[in-house]
Amino acid sequence: MNTQNVRTRFAPSPTGYMHIGNLRTALYTYIIARKYGGKFILRIEDTDRERFVEGATEVIYDTLRACGLTWDEGPDIGGPTGPYIQSERMGIYKEYAEKLVQTGHAYYCFCTKERMEKVHEEQRAKGITPTYDRHCRDLPKEEADKLLAEGTPYVIRQKVPLDGTTTFHDELYGDISVPNADLDDQILIKADGMPTYNFANIVDDHLMEITHVVRGNEYLSSAPKYNLLYEAFGWEVPTYIHVEHIMRDASHKLSKRDGDAYFGDFVEKGYYIPAILNYIALLGWAPKGEQEIFTLEELIKEFDISGLSKSPAIFDAVKMKAINAEWLRGLPHEEFRTLALPYIRQTCKREDIDIDVLAKVLQPRTELLTEIPEKVDFIDTLPEYDSELYFNKKMKTSAETAVPALNAVLPVLEGISEADWNEENIHSAVFAEIEKQGVKNGWMLWPVRVALSGKALTPGGGIELAAILGRDESIARIKKAIAKLG
Ligand code: GLU
Repeated sequence: MNTQNVRTRFAPSPTGYMHIGNLRTALYTYIIARKYGGKFILRIEDTDRERFVEGATEVIYDTLRACGLTWDEGPDIGGPTGPYIQSERMGIYKEYAEKLVQTGHAYYCFCTKERMEKVHEEQRAKGITPTYDRHCRDLPKEEADKLLAEGTPYVIRQKVPLDGTTTFHDELYGDISVPNADLDDQILIKADGMPTYNFANIVDDHLMEITHVVRGNEYLSSAPKYNLLYEAFGWEVPTYIHVEHIMRDASHKLSKRDGDAYFGDFVEKGYYIPAILNYIALLGWAPKGEQEIFTLEELIKEFDISGLSKSPAIFDAVKMKAINAEWLRGLPHEEFRTLALPYIRQTCKREDIDIDVLAKVLQPRTELLTEIPEKVDFIDTLPEYDSELYFNKKMKTSAETAVPALNAVLPVLEGISEADWNEENIHSAVFAEIEKQGVKNGWMLWPVRVALSGKALTPGGGIELAAILGRDESIARIKKAIAKLG
């Protein structure tokens, strides 16, 4: 593969959402540019005006920025091959399409929508896939000129050779040959003067000097037609890398309804952005070694096109969560604390809490940031709880054993001054008492955990909870528990 003067592009259509399959394309495209010291170009493909969504371009900018996929040329920053928004390049496409008409590689088609509907209906009735019947392909030039002069609406179609074969090369799939007879005379310029994606991508990739095209393999079947266009213009074909889809299972795509299709869904679910990128990079690409956790820099270093997969990637939510958890665990504590704080504050508003201790306790135990509010909701107010919670088979505890345990721990806690109240001191005081009493750790600590939180599942054990809650609150909760147990 040529790796000189690499120029790659991400060419999303502004739909209002960033599908994670698209984001993965952006990621691979970005990585290739960075790996070979090339340029990464952002191009907005907005020629489908019917699908245009207000504010959708911002979603693209925001997502790429949040992911750290910075572009070197693009609509907002310009560049030598702009403009980078297709709707601002309108004149260009028409001009190139007309060149193809002049050289006999394209033609004007005046067929009305009604006629096409009728033709398609007849084809369907005969069991043929609806396609253009090449009605205007051999229209004499004078006739076409006359219709044009009269202002008859038209489209411009590609004149695909009727026989022979076209071969194109994909870095992953190798050489693919198709009989030209199987290719339709696709529309290049639509009746509204807009180019189709199929035409615009060729013209733009050429004019923007793109060397490597990474895109979803839904475009694989159109690639031969693109090659014919490159040939007709006498342009060099870029390196194609068509990547497989991401599927929910063998037969279902990721869907909006299941909340697993869009980048924004995952951020909302509490995924950390570098972990999202890490996971989607692995969906369709296998690193050589055993390493699974990759920063963007590491991905750039390790990425190799030969590791891309030719079969669909199955999205694995459990795996993604595990990667997210590993990312969170590995973050510098300060960074985790900053990430966790807004989630903590959703349910824990108390200002006297030691957030630092809380974040330290949460960090190794958090898979998704969105789990945090529920994990810390006992801090502001002790929930109502059943004395059954004191029962723990493994710890050999029950409501009965909790009474002597809590009575023993209370004076120990009261013996620690406000100034000395920290995890280490609480730990040594409580463990001294455990030793003195000759009891098992859990016998004493399980009741403390329940009394302090009213929950069986808590971030951290009794000692950590006491450190988080502070002296007065901890003592008050232990007293309350003793009173409750009578
Ligand atoms: N606008 C196309 C899309 O969003 C881009 C395909 C390509 O990368 O060529 O699917």
